[in-house]
Amino acid sequence: MDALTEKKVLVSGASIAGLSTAYWMNKLGYKVTVVEIANEPRTAGAAIDIRGTTVAVAKRMGIFEPLISNRLTVDLIEFKEADDRTAGSIVLKNEGEESSNDDIEIERDKFITILVEVLKNDVDFMFNNSITALSETENDIIATFKDGTKRAFDLVFGCDGSHSGVRKIWFGHETEYSYFLNAYFQSPSSINC
Ligand SMILES: Cc1cc2nc3c(=O)[nH]c(=O)nc-3n(C[C@H](O)[C@H](O)[C@H](O)COP(=O)(O)OP(=O)(O)OC[C@H]3O[C@@H](n4cnc5c(N)ncnc54)[C@H](O)[C@@H]3O)c2cc1C
Repeated sequence: MDALTEKKVLVSGASIAGLSTAYWMNKLGYKVTVVEIANEPRTAGAAIDIRGTTVAVAKRMGIFEPLISNRLTVDLIEFKEADDRTAGSIVLKNEGEESSNDDIEIERDKFITILVEVLKNDVDFMFNNSITALSETENDIIATFKDGTKRAFDLVFGCDGSHSGVRKIWFGHETEYSYFLNAYFQSPSSINC
């Protein structure tokens, strides 16, 4: 039996970061629990691009083939006037041209379903629940959950988004350590909408 088998990990958040962390911690031999505040993993959001070094990571995770078979194929983007006239277009792939396996775009719900599929038999999921308190003892981290239960873990990962609940519990409210850099950032995906 692997020495890590009895080590327990708690991951907060069942989206891209949480499910990926759960995958690798399980692979390393930890007993993994994922707690998610919603009633299912997060599937909402824009499509995901897997390219560069992440292609090799996807292969090591054994999810490359399902990613390829569920990929989104966009051949052409058209910018429309209100009366449906095409004002401009970008050709992404010419007719008959093969899609590159080094650059995969996939809808977020499909990507998350693939990740859940590889995890579901090995990882415990707690939905409609969240961590309300964390306290460190000599050997463990004790997590208290919204449903009132308490459990001991060896490691806790906060993968619960940009306003992470774990970070807030452990480090304090984000207003205590975030500061304005005198610049604003606009996500390209929001511009595209
Ligand atoms: C407007 C906008 C557009 C974006 N467009 C793109 C894009 O086109 N492509 C792209 O790749 N990325 C895009 N992103 C970035 C996107 O947020 C990340 O790609 C990705 O979702 C981050 O994954 P994550 O797992 O870190 O966090 P998230 O996807 O935010 O997941 C956090 C998870 O934690 C859960 N959670 C939250 N609080 C708690 C809690 N207290 N306890 C337990 N669970 C909790 C949430 O329900 C969720 O499941 C966009 C973001 C925004 C805001």
